[in-house]
Amino acid sequence: MRRLALGLALLLICGAVSAEQVKPAVKGVTTPAATPSDAAKKAAQKPAPKGPPAKMLFGAVTAPAPLEARAIGSYAKGCLAGGISLPINGPDWQVMRLSRNRNWGHPRLLDYLERLASDARALDGWPGLLIGDMAQPRGGPMITGHSSHQIGLDADVWLTPMPDRVLTRQEREDISATSMLKDPFTVDPKIWTPLHTKLIKRAASYPQVARIFVHPAIKKALCEQAGKDRAWLSKVRPWWGHYYHFHIRLTCPPGTEGCENQKPAGGDDGCGAELAAWFKMLRKAEIDAARPAPPGAKPAPKKPPLSLGDLPRECMTVLNSGGGGPVIAPDGTVPAALKAAAGKDAGPPEPHLDPKALAALKAEMSKSKPGSKPAPAAALTSAADPGPASVPAPAPQAAQAASPASPSPPGPAATDPSMSLPDRKPR
Ligand SMILES: [Zn+2]
Repeated sequence: MRRLALGLALLLICGAVSAEQVKPAVKGVTTPAATPSDAAKKAAQKPAPKGPPAKMLFGAVTAPAPLEARAIGSYAKGCLAGGISLPINGPDWQVMRLSRNRNWGHPRLLDYLERLASDARALDGWPGLLIGDMAQPRGGPMITGHSSHQIGLDADVWLTPMPDRVLTRQEREDISATSMLKDPFTVDPKIWTPLHTKLIKRAASYPQVARIFVHPAIKKALCEQAGKDRAWLSKVRPWWGHYYHFHIRLTCPPGTEGCENQKPAGGDDGCGAELAAWFKMLRKAEIDAARPAPPGAKPAPKKPPLSLGDLPRECMTVLNSGGGGPVIAPDGTVPAALKAAAGKDAGPPEPHLDPKALAALKAEMSKSKPGSKPAPAAALTSAADPGPASVPAPAPQAAQAASPASPSPPGPAATDPSMSLPDRKPR
């Protein structure tokens, strides 16, 4: 605790020093008359004070902040006051991967999950929910996996039905979630069932749900199976990696100051141009994944991790309140055991095309120009082509970010500008 206090004090001092350093720089600017508002803007744009990455602090915290429950900031840049933990066994759910200690959330999230688990069982016949990652005890960035899940309003739910018995702690560590994919572009009809569609429809049906993220192949299956009632589909958006779980994101509790909602989902069911653009990105990503990196190629530069100064100011209070604060080594590293537990993937790796199908895909891609209709995908062993007549070119940033090597998330920059960085990886 003392080490942390010292670290935080240091951080504050660093912050103050940087603020001081900004002043002469602003005065010395040669551009005409820097007004006070310009100076304020410049100060606001200055790089955040660097301390240990915030994920190290929030990732090592073991207990909630004893404050009134509040979601602070945005889904990918915030923290959680007064978090509560979802009981590991409920009448219709079980929490998985207990060692990660990520079954925390805002009471709004817990109420929702309990209601969903109960309704899905009673009304749809889904046997119960296996709950994956929610948030850390005080929310915030995580050491591994997600860039969102920071304010206690996000939860991952496995697409594997709950078994008819209470799993042991060890089983909850070891059991793998089931992939729904037959290949990179298609759900496996032997695994994906109408019950899955019902579950996701149910999950999206509550007014407090802002978004649900699923793999594009799952979105495609939902589009095909939705029938006439399609309003719920607008909240269900494609995102990388969500092929063995789906991600539920709730809106901010009404009246919560400092909790940033996303733009509400539009009325479009997302089954047309948006889905087509995602499939185009998927195809490109598949080709990029198979291409060996040229010798001497440097990996794309990583975004620097968030520091405490990047988060809302109240997150400092959240981190410091009560006991159970972070246990970090003097060098700022997190215990290796914690990192190992948190880093273990909950599901199988994503499937890739076999060489023959990949060659067919390459041939198809080389024939189609951006903005034009792609060649028929009949040669593919997989149903790679989503089938619409006009496939819009993904926005440039979307296209380049589709490379698995890229750290920045693609697509929704083009398809959902209000989206705030859900996890690129499915953990
Ligand atoms: Zn997630």
